[in-house]
Amino acid sequence: MRILNSMTGKNLSERDKKHLWHPLTQHKTAAPNIGIAKAKGALLWDEDGKEYIDGIASWYSTMYGHGNTTIVKAITEQMQQLDFVMFSGFTHEPAIKLSEELVKILPDNQSKIFFNDNGSTAVEAAIKMALQYHHNIGEKRDTLIAFEDGFHGDTFGAMSASGLSSYNGPFEDFLLKVERIPVPKVDTIESVLAQLETIIQNNNCAAFVFEPLVQGAAGMKFHSAKGLSLLIEKCNEKGIICIADEIMTGFGKTGKNFASEYLDHKPDIMCLSKALTAGMFPLSITSCSQKIFDRFLSDEVSKGFFHAHTFSAHPLGCVAALSGIELLLSKDITENRQKIEHLHRRFLKDIQGHPKVGEARSIGVILAVDLNIEIARYGNTRDQLYQFFMKRGVVLRPLGNTIYVLPPYIITDTQLHKIYGAIKELLETL
Ligand SMILES: *Cc1c(COP(=O)(O)O)cnc(C)c1O
Repeated sequence: MRILNSMTGKNLSERDKKHLWHPLTQHKTAAPNIGIAKAKGALLWDEDGKEYIDGIASWYSTMYGHGNTTIVKAITEQMQQLDFVMFSGFTHEPAIKLSEELVKILPDNQSKIFFNDNGSTAVEAAIKMALQYHHNIGEKRDTLIAFEDGFHGDTFGAMSASGLSSYNGPFEDFLLKVERIPVPKVDTIESVLAQLETIIQNNNCAAFVFEPLVQGAAGMKFHSAKGLSLLIEKCNEKGIICIADEIMTGFGKTGKNFASEYLDHKPDIMCLSKALTAGMFPLSITSCSQKIFDRFLSDEVSKGFFHAHTFSAHPLGCVAALSGIELLLSKDITENRQKIEHLHRRFLKDIQGHPKVGEARSIGVILAVDLNIEIARYGNTRDQLYQFFMKRGVVLRPLGNTIYVLPPYIITDTQLHKIYGAIKELLETL
């Protein structure tokens, strides 16, 4: 183990700079990356032993806490039994069991589970399924419908469906054809519906891709469940496939297991990742209704879905997901989720009306506070906000002028109050 144990005398933060290229980072101006040495529960420790509360559950994935012993045990046992095998021509208990358990908690119409290995590829597979669904009966449909400011990932299909930003701007000329509509708010439902109808009349629409109820990367922006249901109903009438990207909202974030449960009309396809495996393993799922699956059944081989990732249905990811679902449905986690919801609402009451607070909102364990200050999404002030919290041992990643908290379900009251305290302190210093 000489390679793993070699010591260079430099710390992680310095060694990092030599060969590593980080995501979402302008390396010319970015502060050095912090070396994280250890994580447990809601806490992270850097290489100097400084403690941080992971206030956004490492991009809303480690919802049952870092190093959750139940999940670690399940993965360890699975490794010794069957580490990995291809999922073409082979199947295994963890994948089968996971499909059985997921179908029980997903909206009623979801009946088939397709595996990928990250969020973007779950969306990519969903879009390809929708396009081929039409192609398989010779229908020419080439346009996607998506919400403005959505985020669906960084592969080409997923980028196309995402709102244009500095992330996908350089690739604009290479994206799929997309028509965008604003999210429906309680008082804009009719006008958004009208815009959708115009788009449907003027294009051959294949699919409607959306983050249900909460747009995560847009800054935890909420919209109307009733409005979204009406948009889905309209798409259903026109044979347009509805794809719910629940990569952020899935597994209890919004108070229900899935945000789609708030809708009167269910999506045809759903994308799941992030908390799916509790942050323990990269894995994602594109689930769909029987109607979608059946369109791929044919004596012609080419009408099947020829899309695969090497690590599809990785057994370690599947058992992590199974343990995650068990925890999600457990009494302890359910009670703690309700407690977080309650504390969020109390905190909102506390800060609403503060001159530096614009719109503040919460749903389930998601809390978001828009600050009454103008700042760029990845500009200096945003970095100062980030550093402000880091200095106080709290990891939050403000999105533009929105501060959001999306804590792991196992966070303690004390830890949550420390996060609230840091936000209040910030409001006083702005
Ligand atoms: C994170 C995220 C994705 C992309 O997932 P990756 O695993 O980062 O590729 C897609 N959609 C939503 C809503 C997300 O939050």
